[in-house]
Amino acid sequence: MSVGLPRRLGLVLAPEVGESLASWIDRLGQDMRRSPGLVADDLGLRVVPGAVQRPLSLLFGITANDEQTAAVEAATGVGAEVLHAMHLSAYDGTVLDLSDLADDKASVQRVWFREWALFTTSRACPSCLAESGGVWMLWWRLAAAAVCPTHRLMLVSHCPRCGLELRRGTERNQGVPPRTLLVEPTRCANRTRDRMCGYPLTELPQVPVHDDVCAAQLAFLDAAYGRPPPVAGRCIGAAEWAWAFRSICGLVRFVGDSIELPAVVPAAAAQALVDDARRRRGAASSRQVPGYRSKPRSALLATALLAFAGRTLAAGNDDDLIEAMRPFGAAVVEGPGAQECRPLWRWRMPPLVSMAVRAVFPTPMARWSRAGAHVPFAADVDRSASRTPRRRRTSAASSRSDPGGCLEFRHLPRLVAEADYQELIEPWLRTPPGLSGRRYVALALARICGARTWARAGLALGWPDGRAAAVADYVCEFVVDPARFWQAATTLADRLQERGPIDYDHRRQALSRFVTIDRGIWGPLFAEHGGRLMPAGCRAAAVWLWTAMTCGELGDAPALLDPGWSTVPIKSRLRTCRTMSRWLPDALADQMLRFGATLLDSHNPR
Ligand SMILES: [Zn+2]
Ligand SMILES: [Zn+2]
Repeated sequence: MSVGLPRRLGLVLAPEVGESLASWIDRLGQDMRRSPGLVADDLGLRVVPGAVQRPLSLLFGITANDEQTAAVEAATGVGAEVLHAMHLSAYDGTVLDLSDLADDKASVQRVWFREWALFTTSRACPSCLAESGGVWMLWWRLAAAAVCPTHRLMLVSHCPRCGLELRRGTERNQGVPPRTLLVEPTRCANRTRDRMCGYPLTELPQVPVHDDVCAAQLAFLDAAYGRPPPVAGRCIGAAEWAWAFRSICGLVRFVGDSIELPAVVPAAAAQALVDDARRRRGAASSRQVPGYRSKPRSALLATALLAFAGRTLAAGNDDDLIEAMRPFGAAVVEGPGAQECRPLWRWRMPPLVSMAVRAVFPTPMARWSRAGAHVPFAADVDRSASRTPRRRRTSAASSRSDPGGCLEFRHLPRLVAEADYQELIEPWLRTPPGLSGRRYVALALARICGARTWARAGLALGWPDGRAAAVADYVCEFVVDPARFWQAATTLADRLQERGPIDYDHRRQALSRFVTIDRGIWGPLFAEHGGRLMPAGCRAAAVWLWTAMTCGELGDAPALLDPGWSTVPIKSRLRTCRTMSRWLPDALADQMLRFGATLLDSHNPR
C-alpha cells in the first residue's frame, strides 16, 4: 500500500452523538485552524476537490470502507462504531436502501435520485446550531427531516443569502469540503468564486411548529433507528414503515393543490405544497408522474408532507387510517379526478396504504362501500366520471393489462389458483394450510381491494356467514412474516390485474344452472380417452368445469347441490368429483374449457 495509516493527530475534538461526518470534520478544522479538506486528508479519507469522479470522495459522508475506518481510528482514536454512526449508511435498511450502492458513479446516481437522503447538503435547526456551537445532526440529511422536535421549530433547507441548500459547497462541486478556506460551523459555508457566503445560520428565521408535527418527526426518526411505531395496530418493519411514509407523501403531492392539510401545518409549508403541485401539473405529461415520489428538496415541502403522512401513520386502527386518508379521496374528486389518477395504480404501495387509498378513492369500489359501513363521498359526486371505463375484451386485448383499471371484488377468485399460491404465497405460510390458505389469500385480496375487515372481505366474496372469520382466525396463525405475506398478496393482485381481470361474478351467474354435461355428446369424447361416462360422471364433470371457470369452491358448485343428485350421500358425490378431476386428461380438460367459454358467451352475447 502506498499510503500507510495516518499519524495520530494531537488533541482531537470528539464527535457528538448523532453528529454527521462533515460536521465533525468542520469542527475539527475550526479547532485546528485548518481547512476541512485538509482535515479529511489527515484522517485518511482522501477527499480531493474537483474529484467528484474519484471513488473515495463519491461516498464521502454516505459510507466508509474498512481502509478509511482504520485510518480514522489511527488518526483520532474514534472507533468504527462511532464513525459509522456519522454516515448516512446508519439508516441503510430502515428509511434508506443503500444495498445496491457501489463505488461507481452510476450506482451513486441511481441511489442519489431514488433515496430520500440529502447526499451532499443538510437542513439545520438555528437553535440547535446556536446551542451546540455548530454541531450538525446526521438526521438533518434525511429528506424527511422537516422540524426540530427539541425546539419545535421548522428546519431550514436553504440559505437566505446565497440561495443554495445548506452545506452544498459550491454550485458545481457538491459536498466536497474546501481545501483552502476555513469553515465556521455556525455559518453558511457555501462558496461562490472561492468566497464564503458566511451567513450566520444561528440568526435564521425561526418558524414554530405544532406538537403534532414534532410527534410525526419523532415517529419518523424512530423508524430511521429501527423502531418504527405500529400502524393501525399492526407492527411493521422499519423499511415498510418508510415505504408507507413515502407512498403517502407521493399521493399527497399528486393532489397537492387540492388536498386539505391538517390545520397544524404552517402556512408557508402549505403554500410550498401547492406551488410544487402546480409546477408539476404544468410540466407533467398525462402519462407520467415525474417527481411525485422523489424526495422533497425543501424543508417547507417536507413539513407539509410530514404533517399529513405522520398523522395518517399514527392511526390506531383501520378506521382511523381510512379517516386520515379521506382528504386524499376528496382532493381527487376536487382536483385531478379519478381518470387522471390512473398512474397512481401502477405504484406499488404497502397493503395498509393500498387498503386505505382504495377505501377513500372514488372508483367503482364505492358500490361496495355503499352496502358496507361507510360511504366515502357525498351523493352529489359524479360517479360516472370517476368510473374506470371498461375495455371491451377482445382476443387481442384479453391478454394484456388494462392500465388504470382497478381490480374489484367481482374479479377475485374464491380459491386462489394453486400455481399462484405455491409460487407467491406458500413461502410466507407455515405448514400447508392447503385449501384454507388459498381461501385466506382470496380474503386477503378482498382486503387489498378495500374490504376493511375480514368479515367484510367474506361478504365481498359472497361467502356464507362465519366462513371468512373462521378461515382468517385459523390461517393467520400460520403467517410466518406478515409484511412479506401482504407484499406477496399485493403482487398477486397486480398479477391478476395484468392478466386482465376476469369477472367471476358474471361467470357464476352465467353458470348458476349448469348441473350436468350432455352424455350423448360427451360420452364418445370420454370414450376416446378410455373413460366411461355415467350420469354421475356427467354431474362431476360439470362440477369440475364450474370450479375451473369460476375459481370457485367445489362445495359451492351448482351441480353438486342439484336436487337431482342430492339423493346420493355427499361423501360419495365428492368422491366422484375428486376421481373425475384426477382422471381428466389434459386434452379433454381443454375441450371442456372451450365448451365452458361458449356457455359464457351464450349467456351474455356481448
Ligand atoms: Zn433544534
Ligand atoms: Zn449562504
